[in-house]
Amino acid sequence: MSISWPPVHSVTVRDDLRALEGYHSPQVDVRIRLNTNEAPWPPPAAWRDAFAAELSRVEWHRYPDRSAAALRSSIAELHQVRPDQVFAANGSNEVLQTLLLAYAGPGRKVATFEPTYQLHAHIARLTGATIVEGERGPDFRLDVDAAIELIRTERPAVTFLCSPNNPTGLVEPPENVHAVLAAQPGLLVVDEAYGQFADWSALSMIDESTPIVVTRTFSKTWSMAASRLGYLVGPSWLVAELDKVALPYHLDAAKQIAGRLALQYTDEMDARVEMIINERERISATLAKLPLDVFPSGANFILFRPRTRPGRQVWQDLLDRSILIRDCSGWPRLAGCLRVTVGTVDENDEFLRAIAEIVQ
Ligand code: PMP
Repeated sequence: MSISWPPVHSVTVRDDLRALEGYHSPQVDVRIRLNTNEAPWPPPAAWRDAFAAELSRVEWHRYPDRSAAALRSSIAELHQVRPDQVFAANGSNEVLQTLLLAYAGPGRKVATFEPTYQLHAHIARLTGATIVEGERGPDFRLDVDAAIELIRTERPAVTFLCSPNNPTGLVEPPENVHAVLAAQPGLLVVDEAYGQFADWSALSMIDESTPIVVTRTFSKTWSMAASRLGYLVGPSWLVAELDKVALPYHLDAAKQIAGRLALQYTDEMDARVEMIINERERISATLAKLPLDVFPSGANFILFRPRTRPGRQVWQDLLDRSILIRDCSGWPRLAGCLRVTVGTVDENDEFLRAIAEIVQ
């Protein structure tokens, strides 16, 4: 039998996907990894033991609880909402994907205010929606009047805010969120992947009659990036629509256990958040004494721009010392910028020593 090559077929990717690039975050083997905003420590040892014990009792031949009822109840209790106001998925990225499959899609618009988390626009494009991009000022703050103008003109089905914003670290003040909510005609999504590190949360705005949802993740504060678990809190009628869109049994049994047990360690996690905030303030204050522009952060990372040398070179010099941070210097609107995640005290010390040598 002869095989023709190239194969004769008519398999072509969707026209609107052809020009899209995937989302990349390099995973390099280094001594100090401060590039992906993870928690610097693993979950508490007691969590590991409890998780292992429950895993040994899983009925592996059965599908998991499709509605993840126990997990949803635990999350609901944490935020003082009803379980039917909680939707969980495989990382908050999948929460966003489910949301956008349900509320964006072809013929609809999605508004973002750039620079912000790239996956908001990326996932919206994957659903076939049109992106309308609002611009932030040079200090990366939202120009609320311009935002409202854009929303009134474009009438997006979904509007995104990210607070604290990734990669800038800025917390969106409550009055901005209220103003955008009042102006937008569809759904307002407030991505609070870093919400625990900020001084306020839009969770208090959730009720049954307001078109707003807040998304959160177990990847940062809860030290569970490996588990891939995120959720949103929103009106129950919206959660019911998401339940239709999610694949059956999308949350495996192990993940449901991991998330439910993690929420029994809120005191430990609160203490860790406090340590990270203290370290964030220490790093910001130290960086501010160097020839760098440092942006105020309410997250577990800090954005800064070296003034004496190109950001890319500074990033490379750090990498040569086996310290990996995020190189945002080539991203649109972020020329020259770098982003460092708060690590352990020792990691932060080493980063600060290295950057001082490199930029001075
Ligand atoms: N939203 C923002 C703003 C993020 O920075 C991230 C992680 N980089 C996510 C969502 C996704 O987090 P996960 O899928 O790990 O829950």
